Amino acid sequence: MPRNKNFNIAAHEIANWLTDYFEHVEDYPVLPQVSPGDIEKQLPIVPPEKTEDYKQILDDFNQIIMPGITHWQHPGFHAYFPANTSEPSVLAEMLMAGLGVQGMKWITSPAATELEKVVMRWLQQMIGLPDSFKGVIMDTASVSTLCAVLAAREKASSYTINEDGFGDRVLRVYCSEQAHSSIEKAVRISGIGSTNLVKVPVDNDFALLPDKLEKAIIQDIKSGYIPTCVVGALGTTGSGAIDPLKAVGKICHKHNIWFHIDAAYSGSALILPEFRNTIEGLDLADSFVFNPHKWLFTNFDNSAFFVRNSNALTRTFSLVPEYLQTGHGEELDFSNWGIQLGRRFRSLKLWFVIRHYGVEGLQAMIREHIRLGELFEQLVLDDRRFELLAPRSLNIICFRFKDDLDEKLNATNKTILDACNASEKIFLSHTEIDGKFAIRFVCGQTKVEERHIHKAWEIIASATTEIIQNGH
Ligand SMILES: *Cc1c(COP(=O)(O)O)cnc(C)c1O
Repeated sequence: MPRNKNFNIAAHEIANWLTDYFEHVEDYPVLPQVSPGDIEKQLPIVPPEKTEDYKQILDDFNQIIMPGITHWQHPGFHAYFPANTSEPSVLAEMLMAGLGVQGMKWITSPAATELEKVVMRWLQQMIGLPDSFKGVIMDTASVSTLCAVLAAREKASSYTINEDGFGDRVLRVYCSEQAHSSIEKAVRISGIGSTNLVKVPVDNDFALLPDKLEKAIIQDIKSGYIPTCVVGALGTTGSGAIDPLKAVGKICHKHNIWFHIDAAYSGSALILPEFRNTIEGLDLADSFVFNPHKWLFTNFDNSAFFVRNSNALTRTFSLVPEYLQTGHGEELDFSNWGIQLGRRFRSLKLWFVIRHYGVEGLQAMIREHIRLGELFEQLVLDDRRFELLAPRSLNIICFRFKDDLDEKLNATNKTILDACNASEKIFLSHTEIDGKFAIRFVCGQTKVEERHIHKAWEIIASATTEIIQNGH
């Protein structure tokens, strides 16, 4: 009999629960049918004074918590971007939780630091980043990008702003009009200020126009500003647009500006040689981020951040008080590579995932997701009531119902979206493209199959028919 019998029984029960969940996730409504406060009001206001057993807690989990869950692992989840998980990732997460390791420094768990170095080198090879980069795992792309902007800020000021503040220096950061809001957040938090984020216009495919970028940089130099960082998008959140990274990188090199690439979602597709071969300019980047927690089967959180010159990061972030001195050198301790001191043992998840599937297995899954994206695009194109609002990028499709006579087309499309999401079978989100309400479809779920794509389209097409028949 195990010494901790209750733990052992509950652990097995949860393992069985998860096995069952993964098998039957599509039987749940993707979106919970609850109103604000519905979950909260079922829970006691005061914490329990006395011990409660796992059985009670698990019963309440099933009765109260589960009905309020949005099922991100549901194969009908096509909203935002996926945050896909997988069995090996869950197993590693369990071990991490049990070890409760805090990997801030090498000595606080040598294996955590060293495994992180190894799996980041693996990822680097898988996505085709040059050997000169070094990687570190962050919690999110938002934080990775913030770290890039902070390192760029320090480099552009010869590492003086951390110490002295800005004085009268005005730094400028550049990205496309389509770039993610995390860049503006980083510019705010870093003290550079939103007004010093230059949003460069885009072409018809929503990719940054390099001529406009260079013009803005030259104008800023003339005006006495310090061009500090350009953030290029490898897959915007709206439509998956890819900026001309090579042209942007060259401009950055010419003007000595930090070049950061935000590949949060689409970066996972770089593990496919056929996609990687279409992308030029990665070698020109100073830093690069993509999220295995979006589309590489590694449960949230896990953001892969690579820098060419890790010294720029450690010079920006290293601040080691006496009580944390270890004598091992600053490079070895990942807490010197970013904002937080404490760090989770996230590399274990990547190690399990990459070993379980192998690179070939991961490639096959990503390739299939892109094929399903192509299939969905074809279904949209085959129904003449609809149009694409942006070129398909990988498995991101932005489309809408069109009707030249409908003056409230945006509202009609919103009604269609709401009807689809009320079906409980699928969850889609939207974006705005050139002032048009676009329904946005992404298929990167671990368990998504071809039949789910056909089913999603059936729901969208029949919801549309019904809405039109009812005069909206
Ligand atoms: C999702 C996304 C982000 C933000 O990712 P987090 O990890 O949630 O911070 C940033 N940029 C792009 C392009 C994204 O798609």
